[in-house]
This record gives sequence, C-alpha cells and structure tokens, in this order.
Amino acid sequence: TTPDGRLGRVAVVGAGLAGSLLAVLLGRRGFAVDVFERRGDPRAGGEAEGRSINLGISARGIRALRAVGLWDGMAPSLVPMRGRVIHQPGAPLRFQPYGTRPEEILHSIRRNELNAVLVDRAEKEPAVRFHFGWRGSELDRDGGRLTLTKPGTGERRTVEADLIIGADGAFSEVRQLMHRGLPVNYRQDFLDWGYRELTIRSNPDGSARTPIEALHVWPSRRGLVVAHPNTDNSLTCTVLLPHHDDPQRPDQPSFDSLTTEAAVASFFATEFGDLPELVPDLADQYFAHPVSQLVTIRTAPWHHRDRVVLVGDACHAIYPFYGQGMNSAFEDCLVLDDCLARYGVSETALATYQQSRKPHTDVLADLATDNFIELRDRVRNPLHMLRAQADLALHRLAPQLWQPLYRMVSHTAIPYADALRRAQRQDRLLTWGAAAATVGTALVARAAWRRRRG
Ligand code: FAD
Repeated sequence: TTPDGRLGRVAVVGAGLAGSLLAVLLGRRGFAVDVFERRGDPRAGGEAEGRSINLGISARGIRALRAVGLWDGMAPSLVPMRGRVIHQPGAPLRFQPYGTRPEEILHSIRRNELNAVLVDRAEKEPAVRFHFGWRGSELDRDGGRLTLTKPGTGERRTVEADLIIGADGAFSEVRQLMHRGLPVNYRQDFLDWGYRELTIRSNPDGSARTPIEALHVWPSRRGLVVAHPNTDNSLTCTVLLPHHDDPQRPDQPSFDSLTTEAAVASFFATEFGDLPELVPDLADQYFAHPVSQLVTIRTAPWHHRDRVVLVGDACHAIYPFYGQGMNSAFEDCLVLDDCLARYGVSETALATYQQSRKPHTDVLADLATDNFIELRDRVRNPLHMLRAQADLALHRLAPQLWQPLYRMVSHTAIPYADALRRAQRQDRLLTWGAAAATVGTALVARAAWRRRRG
C-alpha cells in the first residue's frame, strides 16, 4: 500500500466521528492505524464538552455505517424523525414530512453513543490502536513525524507514519501545522448567532411530552429553537439567538441582553408558544449552559504532498442547519478510503480525494447557511410552504424526473453540487410554470368577462 509495497502506517489525530470511522475503514484495508485523541475514551461515559449531544443521521451517514457493518444493529440507539413538527404561538402543531416514502426519514442519535460504537468497531480490527488523552501538537509534514503531548503532564512522544490524517475537528491543529508558512487559502466565518442547549425531559411516567418521532422547530423572527428526540423520550433543544445586541434592531434580544430570569421567561413565552410549558425550569437550564459558537471553514489544500491529509470538520466545518456535518464527514472517509485503495499512499490519492470532495462541501457550506433562513423564517411563510408542497407533489407525480433539493441532500448520495444544479433547474421551471399558469388564468378570466359583457 505504500509506493515500495509495504503495509502502510497511518496516524489519525482525533477519535471523533470521522477519525474513528476512518480507523475502521483503513484497519480493514490492512493499514496499521494509531488513533490519538486528546480527550478520554467516549465509552467511559460523560458528554463531550461544548458539543451538540445529538445528531441527525441521513442517507449518506447510513451508507457509511452500512459499509462497516454497523447500521443494522443500531436501531436501539436511534429515534426515527419522520418530518418536522412546527410550533407556533396560538397555532396547532403542524407536521411537515421529510419525504414521500417510509424510508425517507432521518434518525436522531447521541453523538457520544455513536462515537463509542465506532471506536468499539474499530478496535475489532487487529491493527487499529486508540491512544486516549494524547494531543497532536507538533508535525513534521515532510518527514511524516507527529509529536503528541499528554495534557496536564507535559509527557511527550513522537511517532512516524506514512500518512498522517487530521480528523481533529473545526479548530484542527493538524490543519494549522500542515499549512504553517505555506501559501494556502483559509477562511472562517463565525455566525453572529450562537446557541445554548436545553432539555425537554420526559413525563414522570417516562412518556414523551410532545410527539417524539420528529425534529421539532420553533421558528420566530427573533430567535429559533430546534429539538432532536432521544431514546429516553426526552428532547435536546438548541436555542439560537444573536450573540450581541444590534442598535439597528432594538426589539431583537441577544444572549448579551437576556440576563435575567424575568427577561428569559417573557421572551420565550412571547416567541416560542408551548416551549415554557415543555421546559418548566427553562430559566435555570438557560443560565446553566454555556453559549457556543457556530463556524464555517473553507480551506485549501486539504493535503500536504503524500504525507498529511484532512477529513471532516477539519477541512470543511459548516453551520449545522442542514444536519449534514457528520454525514458529509462520513462521505469523506469513504472517498479517501477508496482513493487510497486505488492509488496507494500517494499524492495522486490525496489530490484525487480533495478534487472529488471540495467542490461539493463548498456547496454544502452555502446550503447550510441558507437553511438557517429556511428554518427561522421560511417555514412560517405560506407562499414558501405552497412552493414546497408543489415541489413534493411534482416529485410524487414524476419521482425520477423531479426531486426536491432537501430529498437529494438528505435521502440520496447525489453529490451536493449536482443536487444544487438540478434543484436550480427545477426552480426555474417551477417559477416559469407558475408565471405561465398566472397569465393563462388571467387570459381565461378576461375572455369570460368579455363574453359576459356580450
Ligand atoms: P469532531 O466530531 O469535532 O471530532 C474531532 C475530534 O478530534 C474530537 O474528539 C476532539 O477531541 C479531537 N481533537 C481535536 N484536536 C485534537 C488534537 N490536537 N489532538 C488529538 N485530538 C484532537 N451533523 C450532522 O450530520 N447532523 C446533525 O444533525 C448535526 N447537528 C449538529 C448540531 C450542532 C449544534 C453542531 C455544532 C454540529 C452538528 N453537526 C451535525 C455537525 C457534526 O457534529 C460535525 O460535523 C461532526 O462532529 C464532525 O466530525 P469530525 O470527526 O470531523 O470532528
């Protein structure tokens, strides 16, 4: 697998979702894989600090988990989400299905649980070893040497590998070390909105307080709350608000301005209808959780020669609004594994991997940004809802010819940029069709009016 035909040695930095899946795939190919993770073993319990604790898995993620033989045994850890339930003050709950077929659904899972399942699976490969509590801190990018430090003790060790993989998330140290001093592209955009987590607990008898098999959305002009269900009938809510006040919009609260229990209670009661009933200790929970940042990262190159390469959030962190961060990170792993199988550990393999993925993850970053507006504003807009219904109706009529963008992104593995191009073509047709129908109706009405006048 190396140019001289030896069994390759791979060092993976980060045993998160992408790092541990990649360990399975490369271990299975016969690489000797060492995975270094600065945190503790996810199987020891406890949630990773500052992380969203549950995630939606869709078709791309399912495909990757199937590829390593995991998906079929995972049902007990999953809650199916059959669509969105929209909560609006004074209105009944509204259900918007995710698709037209029973299998077109998403699945909610605790991040830690998924991480533990992946690490367990990877350890079944004889040549895969995990090293928890080791932080990747120095890199010799040409020589393939990685130095690790034990946080707290300062203990150090250096390992050599044919390939070093940075699967160390949005603020990747491998990326920084790999790019240091080179002419590279790097852009990070922090959203001016952040998030805090709340929990909707189950009832004392263990039943759910609100329909459980859905993603719940509380859209509002002044904030947004999204909730994923858990297997114990609780739901984890993400409360999104601007970080700071905007002098141009004095009626828009922010995390900075919501500083008293009274202000929090009054804001949630006005904007988010039934949420205060579902979370009776809302203010306590609100102040107990930190505010987290959301970031989009675009960068290039994703690799250094044939020695170092990035996967997942390390090369394309995105806002979470399309629920595709992990799903696309898993797709990276499949593509990288395939390129290494085809070309061995070589610059061609790493360059081919980047070329096959980057145009699509760039598009995904834009889609994820746009879906923030969709969730916050458009799901309440009757015209937008009509358009979405027309999109679904056309898909039911001609499933092969017409595919809504959401379906292509979430329920298929059509590459993201191809899906967007196709949706843009369909959008033009829909706009053109609606305009033709309006003109046609006006002409028919005018003819009828003329006939009536004699
Ligand atoms: P990470 O999961 O961040 O893993 C990186 C790992 O590297 C961590 O374990 C970290 O401790 C370790 N590490 C970091 N630095 C070092 C170092 N120097 N040395 C050693 N180890 C290191 N995605 C979806 O698909 N669906 C969703 O519904 C969804 N919802 C989300 C909701 C929110 C609020 C957020 C913030 C994200 C969401 N995501 C979702 C995105 C998803 O969480 C990420 O895309 C995914 O976790 C990326 O996986 P990763 O392995 O690349 O990075």
